Amino acid sequence: MAETLIWTLGVFLLGLMVGSFLNVVIHRTPRGENIAWPGSHCPKCGESLRWYHNVPLLSWIALGGRCAFCREPISVRYPLVELLNGLLWAALYLKLAPQLQNHIDVAGLLYFLLIAATFSALLALSMIDFEYLAVPDSINFFALVTALLAAAAHAWQVGDWGIALQALRDAAIAAGGLWLLAWLIGKATGKEAMGGADVIVAGIMAALLGLVGFFVALFLSAILAIVPSLLARDTIIPFVPFLALGTLILYLLDRPIYHLLERLIYG
Ligand SMILES: [Zn+2]
Repeated sequence: MAETLIWTLGVFLLGLMVGSFLNVVIHRTPRGENIAWPGSHCPKCGESLRWYHNVPLLSWIALGGRCAFCREPISVRYPLVELLNGLLWAALYLKLAPQLQNHIDVAGLLYFLLIAATFSALLALSMIDFEYLAVPDSINFFALVTALLAAAAHAWQVGDWGIALQALRDAAIAAGGLWLLAWLIGKATGKEAMGGADVIVAGIMAALLGLVGFFVALFLSAILAIVPSLLARDTIIPFVPFLALGTLILYLLDRPIYHLLERLIYG
C-alpha cells in the first residue's frame, strides 16, 4: 500500500515534467517549429528561461503567472497542462498497477510508459484542436504508433502475441471503417464529411480499447459533446478533446461502465 503510494507520487512528478515538455509540443508543432531547439524562451521578449523558471507548476506560481524578464502574462494553459498530465499519469498508473506486479519487469514498465505517452499525445492533440480546430498529423501518428507498441509490450509481458495482433486488427477495422463511411458520405452529399485526422484518432481509440470499446467510447464522446455543442450554437466546437476524454473515461473505468451497460441491455 505504502509502496503503491510512493510509486504513484513518483509517476505524478514524472507526469508533471512530461507535461512541461507537452507545452513546448503544443506551442511549437502547429507553428512548424523544432520541438528540441532552441531551448525554452519567452514567446514575447525572447529571453531564454533559466532552469528555475522551468520547474513545473511551481515556477508559474512563484512568478505570479508572468515572464521573469518582461513581466508579460504567461497563459494559465502552461501550469494546467502540467497538472493535467501529472494527474493523467498517476491515474493510469493506479489503473495498470495490478498488472505491473513487478516494477523491475521491463515489458510491464514499457507497457505503462507507452500507454501514458499515448494519452499525453491525446492531451496535446486536444489542446491544439481547441486553439486551431485542426490537429497535426505528426502527433496523431505518434499516438497511433505508441498505442500499437503498448499492445505489443503488453503481449510481450504476458506472453500472448494474440493481444498485439488483435490491437492491430481492431485499429485497422476502426480506421478503415470510418474512412469508408466518410468516403461514402462524401460521395452521397458531395461534401467532405470527416478529415483524415479523425480516421487516425479512431485507430488510436480501437488500439487502446478494442473494437467494442471504440464504439462505446465514441458514444460516450458524443454524449459529452452535447451540452458544449448546444452552448456554442453556431460556432464549430473541436471534437478531438471529447474523443480523448471519452477514451480516457472508458480506459480507466472499463469494468463499471461495461457492467452498467450489461445491466441496461440485459436487465
Ligand atoms: Zn518575456
